[in-house]
Amino acid sequence: MHDDARISRRATLTKIGGILAGAVAVGGWRAAESLSATEDDAASSGPAGVALGAVSCVLAPEQTEGPYYLDDHKVRRNITEGKAGVPLTLRLTVVNVSTCKPIKGAAVDIWHCDAGGVYSGTSVQGTEDDRFLRGIQRTDAKGLALFRTIYPGWYEGRTVHIHVIVHLGGNVVHTGQLYFPDALTDAVYRRTPYSRRPNRNPRNAGDSIYRNGGKRSTLKLAKSGSGYIGSISMGVQRS
Ligand code: FE
Repeated sequence: MHDDARISRRATLTKIGGILAGAVAVGGWRAAESLSATEDDAASSGPAGVALGAVSCVLAPEQTEGPYYLDDHKVRRNITEGKAGVPLTLRLTVVNVSTCKPIKGAAVDIWHCDAGGVYSGTSVQGTEDDRFLRGIQRTDAKGLALFRTIYPGWYEGRTVHIHVIVHLGGNVVHTGQLYFPDALTDAVYRRTPYSRRPNRNPRNAGDSIYRNGGKRSTLKLAKSGSGYIGSISMGVQRS
């Protein structure tokens, strides 16, 4: 009986290892503790470890939605509407922060300003009838929502950012903002049309909203052709 229990526990560990490897590949996990395949650790690893708090996904920081959200965003992957700028593909993954599993069917809703720092849909900037750089995508079985857009510009008082709201079953489960490494923004902003507005202010560290969790909401960027692919995994609580 004792031996049987051992075997089954080992089999479970192997399975957990497999789940972990798969999850790491999609970027949904951050293990708070590294897992080792000893019996003593079995109880604090994998899904059991999640329940005990030994292993966790990172909860995406909640941040203000700001003044420019509109509730009429279209479901569309390409939100550029011909706006000039450096191409940016966004790969936004939604995971359940309690189980670290991808969430399928979440509606990821994003909006950001153009290369000149202007938002669509606001009378303040004379764009009330426009809807550029706004859109919604549903996550697939891997929790992934994909967008095609441009690298955002900046406006006075804020560092470069993209707003995001995640809806699940009619509820808002996350309101946040996504950020960019300053060094990369510097490189991008040397190119037109961004270079027409030099001396952006503030940078990440000087932004009062960024300071509350912005580092954990910073996109990982990889070069792709003349543009970039930005990826992040957002851990959310189902409500
Ligand atoms: Fe904003």
